[in-house]
Amino acid sequence: KPGPATPETGGEGVAAIDWASIRADFPLLDREVHGKPLVYLDSANTGQKPGVVIEAVDDFYRRHNANVSRAVHQLGSEATDAYEASRRKLAAFLNVRADELVLCSGTTFAINLVAYSWALPRLKAGDTILVSRMEHHANIVPWQLVAERTGARIKIAEITPDGALDLDALHAAMTPDVRLLAVTHVSNVLGTVNPVRDICRQARKRGIVTVIDGSQALPHRPVDIAAIGCDFYAFTGHKMCGPTGTGALWARREHLAAMPPFIGGGEMISEVSFDGTVYAAPPHKFEAGTPNIAGFIGLGAAVDYLSTIGMDNIEAREQALLAHLAEELRQVDGLRVFGTAPGKAAVVSFLVEGAHAHDLATLLDLEGVAIRSGQHCAHPLLQWLGVAATCRASLAFYNTHAEVERFVAALCKVRKLLG
Ligand code: PLP
Repeated sequence: KPGPATPETGGEGVAAIDWASIRADFPLLDREVHGKPLVYLDSANTGQKPGVVIEAVDDFYRRHNANVSRAVHQLGSEATDAYEASRRKLAAFLNVRADELVLCSGTTFAINLVAYSWALPRLKAGDTILVSRMEHHANIVPWQLVAERTGARIKIAEITPDGALDLDALHAAMTPDVRLLAVTHVSNVLGTVNPVRDICRQARKRGIVTVIDGSQALPHRPVDIAAIGCDFYAFTGHKMCGPTGTGALWARREHLAAMPPFIGGGEMISEVSFDGTVYAAPPHKFEAGTPNIAGFIGLGAAVDYLSTIGMDNIEAREQALLAHLAEELRQVDGLRVFGTAPGKAAVVSFLVEGAHAHDLATLLDLEGVAIRSGQHCAHPLLQWLGVAATCRASLAFYNTHAEVERFVAALCKVRKLLG
């Protein structure tokens, strides 16, 4: 949305965007919580939805609702066309081929698909799965399940004190027994942006298959999966302005061709008889059952919406908000921030001396400020940080500089209350 420069511009390079009007696209952000205007700083958990996404879902149910890939009637073809159009939009957004994108319920399903379909039939005792310390449980537990069943072992790629991946240690850990490397593109706790392109190049040289968790990258920066050079890239739609229960796995064609289906049923076959079943070609081979059709149509609208703003602009906007937040937080006594790697994303995990994370989050909620507290589905990382929980404020392009200030003012207030 081009528009005049306003106080809500994010700094150089984003002056042409009317961020106030973009924010007005998000109906929920207008509401109050406990009698105070909402300040939503939990976008790493789930993102808010612009009106165009809500309307796309609504329009599907009001005017086009039918199942996909089954009926020959008009509604059936409208539903199928719209669903497949979303796959093509996602593919263009990520610079990959549409037939390499398996649509599924989100990152958790996508990584489990790799674990059960690619890893389980291939790994054996003596093999190693390399997993970084900063992974979300969705990129740890599936590998543990594979390790339990195959006898493979899990090795941890450690991080440096500022929350970056220790790249020297990572390269040294890529020994000949390592078959698979699972690493996040952006950490949901530390905000660290990992150099996934270099990591994948190193892994590929050694014949190691790479699984990248893109959950926290896609909503906040341009992502070109082809340029990253990974084997698998998993992501979730609800953090990138799309409906919940949507996401995808991108995989190299040769992997999809070689992998058996993960779950079976309708939609994923070309012919079934009691003598044997012929599966549909990828990606449909991996999409058994009726999918979240309306959700994917909403996700297609989200991709259009994000593309119109421009992911470069979104990244610059969020970096400007993050810089403002870092500056404002300097006034908070006893603040400890976890994750200070250069170039980090707009996620700030913190603790305040003498205050429990949940108490802070509860009192901030009473001020209308929504942040997350807890372990952020990253127990091994929290164990390494040596804390039971942190607070996490996560920003999105629809947040404002005024909200950053309201959050920090509220934090100072509740800190006093907690003594
Ligand atoms: N990976 C990361 C880094 C995440 O932040 C999340 C969500 O919190 C997930 C995986 C899991 O995503 P989902 O619950 O949508 O499958």
